[in-house]
Amino acid sequence: LIVPCWHEFCDQMKKIYLKCKPIEDGHVATYIPQLARQDPNKWGVSICTVDGQRISFGDATTPFCFQSVSKPFSYAILASDIGADAVHSYVGQEPSGRLFNEICLDGNNKPHNPMVNSGAIIVSCLMKSEWNMADRFDYVLSEYKKLAGDGYIGFNNATFLSERDTADRNFALSYFMKESKCFPESKHSIHEDLEFYFQLCSLEGNCESMAVMAATLANGGVCPLTAEKCLANRPCRDVLSLMYSCGMYDYSGQFAFHVGLPAKSGVSGAMIVVIPNLMGICLWSPPLDKMSNSVRGVEFCKEMVARFKFHNYDTL
Ligand code: GLU
Repeated sequence: LIVPCWHEFCDQMKKIYLKCKPIEDGHVATYIPQLARQDPNKWGVSICTVDGQRISFGDATTPFCFQSVSKPFSYAILASDIGADAVHSYVGQEPSGRLFNEICLDGNNKPHNPMVNSGAIIVSCLMKSEWNMADRFDYVLSEYKKLAGDGYIGFNNATFLSERDTADRNFALSYFMKESKCFPESKHSIHEDLEFYFQLCSLEGNCESMAVMAATLANGGVCPLTAEKCLANRPCRDVLSLMYSCGMYDYSGQFAFHVGLPAKSGVSGAMIVVIPNLMGICLWSPPLDKMSNSVRGVEFCKEMVARFKFHNYDTL
């Protein structure tokens, strides 16, 4: 087994979980009621190793929306389908140094990377672009389920409707990108592609299912529970690079510095962390810091790296 002293390891992780529990900093996202109503006391952690050892603490089976945690998975699914080069002819790899939903493009007039809204909207647009909307949604849902080893993946329609109702910035971003000729030829309207993007943000999982998805990334695209190859090798490597440099909003550089692991967070308070060749972790706690990262989630990671040599450069 990849973690031989599993019980000792679990004890340590549980201590970290409990240490972060009393933290009361941060605020739940308020831009839509479905997020504003999230209970700030919810706190779940789930871990899945590359050979399927699993442990969870706290609210690990309560569903929550992926929000921006969908971005790495949607990107990796798309790049496995059409190839990394095809994707990157429309979107770059550079951290933007700007807010995740800022109206800006890189020097080539492309979205900076697939982890910011502009890049993720282009990714959604490219996903099975020839298919009708219902089949595109079904496709993504079934790919997410594969990554999760058939763990819980759902869809929160109220979140989707709210996202669509409060989407001025994402519409502005899309029209700006249309003006700048960022979109591929598409049989779908901007409205349809944006709705698809909101649908991806409104997919639901829980700590358990998302930890398996993270473990699939840690395992080179092979789901540790089913042994199914879900992602091609290069997209798997590429998405981890992007998560490492761009996954934690405007804290990405500091997270890479202090924690040294690929991660992605979202405004629901969800966060995935990947320890390549070892394990995937999902953390969920709705209160966010100023950068939009889960306060307990980030604290957990710092504490974990203080106890275990998981930082990318700890092996030096
Ligand atoms: N639904 C959000 C948006 O598109 C995503 C927020 C996030 O998790 O970063 O603005």
